Amino acid sequence: ELYNKVLELKGNIRVFCRCRPLNSEEVAAGASMAIDFESAREGELTVFSNGIPRRTFKFDSVFSPQANQADVFEDTAAFATSVLDGYNVCIFAYGQTGTGKTFTMEGTKEARGVNYRTLEELFHIIKEREKLFRYELEIRQAVEGQHCVQGLVEARVNNVHEAWDVLQTGSTARTVGSTNANDHSSRSHCLHCVMVKGENLLNNECTRSRLWLVDLAGSERVAKTEVQGERLKETQSINRSLAALGDVIFSLANKSAHTPFRNSKLTHLLQDSLGGDSKTLMFVQISPNESDLSETLCSLNFASRVR
Ligand code: ADP
Ligand code: MG
Repeated sequence: ELYNKVLELKGNIRVFCRCRPLNSEEVAAGASMAIDFESAREGELTVFSNGIPRRTFKFDSVFSPQANQADVFEDTAAFATSVLDGYNVCIFAYGQTGTGKTFTMEGTKEARGVNYRTLEELFHIIKEREKLFRYELEIRQAVEGQHCVQGLVEARVNNVHEAWDVLQTGSTARTVGSTNANDHSSRSHCLHCVMVKGENLLNNECTRSRLWLVDLAGSERVAKTEVQGERLKETQSINRSLAALGDVIFSLANKSAHTPFRNSKLTHLLQDSLGGDSKTLMFVQISPNESDLSETLCSLNFASRVR
């Protein structure tokens, strides 16, 4: 079965797939690409193995390794408008460690990611609407791992610089207590929540909405033999919460009667921003390297369940 039409625009859930480029070590080692992006504009990608096309997946958007941060944000910007229109929004990055979740969400100073660009867009729209609306923004954060910390930072913010400072403080706090930042971030979810209060100055009607920006823990399966003790508990808890998130999104996309929000801390925390008239965007991050193919297929299949 060569062609799997996996995703259609469905309700308020969008799935974007982004593939990182091969890095210099992979290039030096002669790694082969397992993904073809010829139909990326149509939202399709094809998975190859041993030079043979195996499956085609379809998403709302597909970003090849050549796509830059601005290209990605072009398809994401509308979510900022939705937040200021009073909708709750959740933006997630899901995928194996090293596939670019943090690059997509946080980005770098030279290549700003979704978090910064969304904040910038929010303040841009606020400025445009200032004669008609007044907005108050507050940022809260949580890091969810074995040791759940909620409300790490809570602050009112008045511009993109203040907002970014708060986000940075949270991201730094995420690595405290760990000798290896990457190791730690692969085992915890990093959540930023922007709380928005809007007032329509013409009729004094108020709206309250939330924007969650979530860099999820790495989705890779870790063999039980590789981890023990605390580390094993942590891994199991992460796997459970990612599976629970998948179940919730799957259930919402399929309009099931019951949505299992209570199965994990993560879904419980996000409950009022998932479902209803909330808007959800999931970035499925993948590696192009043929040697990562089994994890890549797991991620693509996870995303397909949302169908
Ligand atoms: P993750 O958060 O999923 O573990 P990272 O965001 O840390 O992955 O990305 C791993 C490495 O790959 C980083 O050095 C990052 O800068 C680089 N990278 C990821 N995606 C891209 C991309 N689209 N373009 C360029 N470099 C990327
Ligand atoms: Mg990361």
